[in-house]
Order: sequence, then structure tokens, then C-alpha cells
Amino acid sequence: MRFAGDKEAADKAVQLGESGDANALNVLGSFLKHCSPNVRRLAASAIGKLAGKADTAQAVRLLQVCLSDPHPQVRQYSVKALSAYGSSAEPALVDLLDMTQNADETDYNRRDAAKALGIIQEALKNVAEAVTKTCQKCGSDVLPDEEARAQKAFQRVYCDHCFDEVFLTRRNWETQVELHKTIQAKDGTVVQSEGERIITEFLARHSVPYRYDNRFRIIKGYAIRPDFYLPESDLYIEYWGMEDNLDYQIGMLEKKKLYQQAGKRLVSFYGHEKADLPRLLLERLGRYMRLSDDEGWSRAEPESGADSIPRRAASQEKGVR
Ligand SMILES: [Zn+2]
Repeated sequence: MRFAGDKEAADKAVQLGESGDANALNVLGSFLKHCSPNVRRLAASAIGKLAGKADTAQAVRLLQVCLSDPHPQVRQYSVKALSAYGSSAEPALVDLLDMTQNADETDYNRRDAAKALGIIQEALKNVAEAVTKTCQKCGSDVLPDEEARAQKAFQRVYCDHCFDEVFLTRRNWETQVELHKTIQAKDGTVVQSEGERIITEFLARHSVPYRYDNRFRIIKGYAIRPDFYLPESDLYIEYWGMEDNLDYQIGMLEKKKLYQQAGKRLVSFYGHEKADLPRLLLERLGRYMRLSDDEGWSRAEPESGADSIPRRAASQEKGVR
């Protein structure tokens, strides 16, 4: 099979990984020899996603070869993909061990190789001791290799069936979140609502380093996606923009409970507070960090849209949590 461009091959690799198609290995194997490292990386990742579906011996063999790919990121994705195969990845143990000890290897690859070693060895031990675990979602028996996959992705024990279910929910949600991001803040961050824009611009103005909605974090075994995370003060910010929607409310309460149970510091702001956000931000965040209010934030919160900010969706207050 031939694919014209890198982009096409990259898209195809991602799609095959998500297809669950046990026969996708041949095509993915050919992508592993593609001239573009990005395509090779995505193909390795896709093979990891097919763990439990595709032929394990073939998959492990393919990934093992990639451990010596010239591009570090291809090696990294292969390492991660291998750990999804649990005890079946045993043939790669020596290579992984080499990687952890190779001074020429990147730090992140040495670290990820050590992690993968741990997961695979744990699975091998469970196989040897015939340890059977139960799925935390449905209660069915979980094989060591299934466990390895779930541990890798969620740090929980799930059977393959529940693993797919959780993964799908998460992916759909991610897609929805992306679709709702339409408002651009001054620093270029694209956010979902006016409220989030105000928060983003407040943080930027006060030089508070933040991460916006960029990744899932595992809190108490659940994957949640915080609106904002402030690494310097280890603080989370959620803007609950659609409080009057019942489903949203339920999600909000569950999410708040998770933060609480995990002992994470969460500062909440709500849709009805939007008009007063600059003052509330200063007040609530001020409890955790030093914020200067000498730059005229109170003079006038910049009229939204005063600058050349595209405000295509300014009137909508979106949120999909
Ligand atoms: Zn299950």
C-alpha cells in the first residue's frame, strides 16, 4: 500500500490505531519504515493501541526493531507501546534494560524505558504467580497483560472491554473540548468561553505561569482535565460556566469531589460571577500567591474585543464538562 504524503500516512496511522483492527499491523509495520519520523512515531503508538487485539508476537517484534530508530521520539513511542503488551513484551526486556543504561540515550527515554520495564516485569510476575485481578469497573477477571495496558493508561485495573469504553469516552470528550475552543486570549491561548478568556488574561497580566486545559491528569485513578493548572503554586482553577445545566452540575460535583479526595487545591469560579471576575480572581488567587494590583486591572477590565482579538464566539458561554 502506498500513501502519497506524510500527512496522509500520519492520519492513516492514527486511524488504524483507533480502529481496533487486528489486521492493521502490516500497514503499520510499513509505516515504521517511513521516511518521516512523525509517521514512524504515530505508527508505533498505534501498534500500542492495538495491544490485546493484534497479533502480540508480531507487534512486539515490530516495536522492538523501533527501539533502535535514529529518532528519539520514535524510540520513546515504541517503549510506551511495548509496555501495553505486558508480559508478551518479554523479548524486549533486554533492549529496554540497555536503554535505561545507555548514557547516549535521552533522559526521557531512559526514564520511560525504566517505567516500561517495571510494567512488563510486574505482568510477568503476575503470570508466573497466576495472580488474577478483577476489573474495577465490571468485576470480571483481568489478565496480567490487560492489567498492564490499563495501568499504563489509567493507573487502574480494567479489563480490555472497560479499557476501551473509558478510552472512547475520553476521546469523544477531548474532541468536543477541541470543537468548543473558539475564543482567543491576548497571549494566543484559545479558550472555550469568555470567562476562561478573562482568567487567562488575568494570569498572563500577573505573570503567573499556567497551563490551560492541555492534558488529562490522573487524580485518584480518574482522568480529569482541569481548566487551568498553576505549577508554581500547585493550584487548579476551574471555571464552571454552565451552572444552570443539570448534567453539567452533576459533572461539576463529581469533579470537585475528585479534587477534594485527592487533596488537590482547587479554586472555582462560576458563570454568574463573570462580570466580577477580575476582582474575584485577585481575591481568591491572592490567598495562594502574591499578586500585584498596581497595573490598573481595576481601572477598567479591558473592554472585551478592544484589541484585535478575534471574538467569533464572544456571546457564547460554552463548556462541556
Ligand atoms: Zn471490566
